[in-house]
Amino acid sequence: MNRIGIVGLGLIGGSLGLDLRAQGYEVIGVSRRQSTCDRAVELGAVDHATVDLSALGTAEMLFLCTPINAIVPTLEQVLPYLRPEAIVTDVASVKTPIVAPATALWHQFVGGHPMAGTAEQGIEAAQRHLFDRAPYVLTPQPNTPTELVDIMTTLVQHLNSRLYICTPEAHDRAVARISHLPVMVSASLIASCTQEDGQTLELAQSLASSGFRDTSRVGGGNPELGVMMARYNRSALQAALQDYRAALDTVIEQIEQEDWAALAALLQQTQAARPPFVEEQ
Ligand code: NAP
Repeated sequence: MNRIGIVGLGLIGGSLGLDLRAQGYEVIGVSRRQSTCDRAVELGAVDHATVDLSALGTAEMLFLCTPINAIVPTLEQVLPYLRPEAIVTDVASVKTPIVAPATALWHQFVGGHPMAGTAEQGIEAAQRHLFDRAPYVLTPQPNTPTELVDIMTTLVQHLNSRLYICTPEAHDRAVARISHLPVMVSASLIASCTQEDGQTLELAQSLASSGFRDTSRVGGGNPELGVMMARYNRSALQAALQDYRAALDTVIEQIEQEDWAALAALLQQTQAARPPFVEEQ
């Protein structure tokens, strides 16, 4: 396979283009705005780019990299142009609402989620090696042809990502906990800090350092993406938020009651629980 199409030339689509071209693939880009297409060519993210989906007629493989709500509609629009043997994948941060309708539209579809990002968006934010050593999740269905998973596995290896395979539902429950909940928690953290009054707020802003930078990063990212996560992974995110609220209530109660032993026990538990989430496997 040589020729890859990418629809949606933003942070993820552009970064994929840069790495795939570096691996020798020819990349055809399609985006909504002509200015983005021109910039993607200038930056070397694609070989050619246009706003016209018919340009994807020669692609052997297609990555759908638009915002979540445009993935299935884009697939519907591009169907008339696709080669019969073309493989289609997507990069959306949620999988359950996409995989079933996309597979119904195109049998040779396999859902994917490269789990890397930055706080930036758009083609200017595209960068090489974004997916290096990052998890890349594939969510095949029981009827997904095995050759598709094999071809995607090779591509994931070319991106130097770490491959994981699971169901769309398992993916969405897991990312609700480690990706979508942190966005809402981090956004709430920033919102609560802005409750301080003028002088204290200014002082807090001056004193904020690496701890605040780490904990506020994902809450200060792309608002459109945050809303999409909540809309399209609503029930799993709600369950995670309820558990988080209960955990916060516990901490509030321990502090109110000056139960330092209980607080210490909780912090010891969380200190021990963290490494398996953050250490590379
Ligand atoms: P982004 O930087 O905003 O890029 C999306 C691009 O898609 C936009 O720049 C826009 O380009 C284009 N676009 C929008 N609607 C379109 C349409 N109908 N047809 C063609 N192009 C369209 O967003 P992103 O962060 O790359 O996210 C894209 C996808 O990656 C989402 O599905 C998201 O869930 C997933 N994802 C994001 C991250 C992350 O951390 N950001 C990580 C993993 C996966 P124009 O300039 O042409 O309008």
